[in-house]
Amino acid sequence: MQYISTRAAKGQAEPKRFCEILLEGLSPDGGLYLPMHYPQVDSATLSRWRSLPYADLAFEILSLYVDDIPAADLRALCRKTYTSDVFGSEAIVPLKRLQEGLYLEALSNGPTLAFKDMAMQLLGNLFEYELARRGEELNIFGATSGDTGSAAEYAMRGKKGVRVFMTSPDGRMSPFQQAQMFSLLDDNIHNIAIRGVFDDCQDLVKAVSNDLAFKQRYKIGTVNSINWARLMAQVVYYFAGYFQATTANTERVSFCVPSGNFGNVCAGHVARMMGLPIDKLVVATNENDVLDEFFRTGVYRVRGSADTHETSSPSMDISKASNFERFVFDLLGRDGARVADLFGAGLARTGAFDLHADPLFAQAANVYGFVSGKSTHADRIATIRDTWQRFGVMVDTHTADGLKVAQQVRQAGIPMVVLETALPIKFASTIVEALGREPERPVKFLGIEALPKRVRVMDADVNALKAYIASACD
Ligand SMILES: *Cc1c(COP(=O)(O)O)cnc(C)c1O
Repeated sequence: MQYISTRAAKGQAEPKRFCEILLEGLSPDGGLYLPMHYPQVDSATLSRWRSLPYADLAFEILSLYVDDIPAADLRALCRKTYTSDVFGSEAIVPLKRLQEGLYLEALSNGPTLAFKDMAMQLLGNLFEYELARRGEELNIFGATSGDTGSAAEYAMRGKKGVRVFMTSPDGRMSPFQQAQMFSLLDDNIHNIAIRGVFDDCQDLVKAVSNDLAFKQRYKIGTVNSINWARLMAQVVYYFAGYFQATTANTERVSFCVPSGNFGNVCAGHVARMMGLPIDKLVVATNENDVLDEFFRTGVYRVRGSADTHETSSPSMDISKASNFERFVFDLLGRDGARVADLFGAGLARTGAFDLHADPLFAQAANVYGFVSGKSTHADRIATIRDTWQRFGVMVDTHTADGLKVAQQVRQAGIPMVVLETALPIKFASTIVEALGREPERPVKFLGIEALPKRVRVMDADVNALKAYIASACD
């Protein structure tokens, strides 16, 4: 399988193979990598895959996209990643039935209790494998306000050849999140609490990344959500969810996905393009409704910071959707020159583009199956309460956004699977607001606030930060 950039003009793509793009972020032309074509999965293959354990299903799907890792090694990496020990059950992503035709697919029973573990755990093993093969090292450097940073640390802890330097705003994460991250004592994990806010952390990451000499000397990389390997790993649970919700390949299923950067639902798009019988892909946003606006109107408008809301489903608080370019590339017939213009020059000039007058826009719904909706804080509270009262199930705030929109758009006769993207314990204060009680804490997290912690507190000073990274690497 070869990969091309979403901004490569037709015929001018310089295709790359999987391991070349694994450790890279953006393509040098500013685009995102996608496979040259989507492998097609027929009904006989679906039948064969139906009964596979999750790790082996992952291997089958990944093999279609990865041809530069020997099959035996790739299978071993999948089996090492998707274990009941790490993900809490043999099913890995068990389906919970709420009522006839309405399901939750549990993607958040990994080490950090959010769905990002599904991909990040695999990425940790892939990185370790590929770095060892090349005899290289990588220093992952990032900023987090919670979810992504902890998923990266839990994926990379103890991995050879990788160090993680993760900045976070000092004292601003929840006590649970701080305990989760700072209790990691592995030598290769460096928690850096910055005296400032999340934006200060992001500015520091930018400042370090802009120093190309430093970046090269210390092999600085990232693990952000535009990495193709993360997206590919997420394709697997759409198949696993489909198999659990159906008994025959003639049945269709819709998925509803709480969305921010469009990574999760883009994996659903890939699964559908491969031939998985998905009816609708429902994009659920919170008040940060960049994506809902696009699917309703054809206008994609990046929000300014004054227009980006802090909500009670914070992992979906985005001003732009960094994976969205991948879908637009497919929607526009893989016209890389046009995508480069829209997302490069166009967004830089006006912060927006408008496809409503283009006949291709209608295909987002008619051909690609996209539907969207949004949810507000009041909706989340009502949905958490309603789901608890009617089904005895406690959902987190992000999953509540999904459930709210799913119930609005679902159609009789077609099962709707809502992706559960986090557990309620991560967002306890909103659960207390909705239900007047604390969410249950999984046994392995009892008492984590009392564990020893390792964190370095620093000012927002780029030189001090570089000195710290340099001293940890030498
Ligand atoms: C990251 C995240 C999302 C959004 O996923 P995208 O891939 O960015 O669309 C939703 N819910 C939770 C809990 C998350 O951590």
